[in-house]
Amino acid sequence: MRALVTGAGGFLGSHLCDRLLAQGHGVVGMDNYVTGNPANIAHLEHHPHFQLIRHDVTTFIEIDGPLDGVLHFASPASPVDYLELPIQTLKVGSLGTHKALGVAKAKGARFLLASTSEVYGDPLLHPQPESYWGNVNPVGPRGVYDEAKRFAEAMTMAYHRYHGVDTRIVRIFNTYGPRMRPRDGRVVSNFIVQALKGEPLTVYGDGSQTRSFCYVDDLIEGIVRLFERGGPDPVNIGNPREFTVRELAGLVLRLTGSKSPIVERPLPVDDPKVRQPDITRAHTLLAWEPRVTLEDGLRRTIDYFRAVIDG
Ligand code: UDP
Repeated sequence: MRALVTGAGGFLGSHLCDRLLAQGHGVVGMDNYVTGNPANIAHLEHHPHFQLIRHDVTTFIEIDGPLDGVLHFASPASPVDYLELPIQTLKVGSLGTHKALGVAKAKGARFLLASTSEVYGDPLLHPQPESYWGNVNPVGPRGVYDEAKRFAEAMTMAYHRYHGVDTRIVRIFNTYGPRMRPRDGRVVSNFIVQALKGEPLTVYGDGSQTRSFCYVDDLIEGIVRLFERGGPDPVNIGNPREFTVRELAGLVLRLTGSKSPIVERPLPVDDPKVRQPDITRAHTLLAWEPRVTLEDGLRRTIDYFRAVIDG
């Protein structure tokens, strides 16, 4: 198989490239490095089956030769990033998804959209099954990401129904691991970097809001299974084990051995109060469930950030 991965320089995109190459596939990686990091794929530069194209996916995508898969992972994905890049976030989710679907259709390739638990907004149903339509504020600051991804899902289904493109939609819940940007603003990277530097851990609000954290290797395994043997309906991939943000802070302090204090900061606007995936569909359809515990995953992530910060 030869696959196009958009957002190849990103946290998830780069892990996906590694995994596809390890399976013997050819990969065309695409990124414009708005939030991606060239260092994430620097080790692939001389890989015989990897090709890198620097391109903004919101404009026409041209690829020479055949393609069997298009995996659309390009997008700012941290709340801090999409608040700073609202127009780019809207454009990559809408125009970028349209262009990526267009190339999949032209090449007869299977398409996978990296969607998000944000399509559920601040959910009124807990945990969230794929059948839940969500509670999103379209005009709030997070709307640029949430609505772009909701549009992207609708566009993907339209290409499936109208053009017969073989499509997949993965709704990705909070994921962490090596290659997150140290200052990307998300809670796991923030807490680890703060703990390692002896800075206060910034808990937003009172820290009673919950998230369910999936280690990146588990997530990639679920996505590859969905791509290979799933269907067009959206599938949640995430770890159903739920923690409060304050519990996460405590765990990071213990695992790093840091003496950093915990400080409270204002809760961002429209910050979801709870989030936990119902993974029944992934389990039934793909026989998938996460294996890495938060403690093990955090240890591996802490090792990574230690090396990045020291380096
Ligand atoms: N959060 C926090 N401190 C930080 C960063 C984030 O308490 O330094 C909280 C944030 O308000 C949210 C949760 O941690 O409730 C997860 O935030 P993140 O930015 O990782 O992603 P989200 O799940 O909100 O998209």
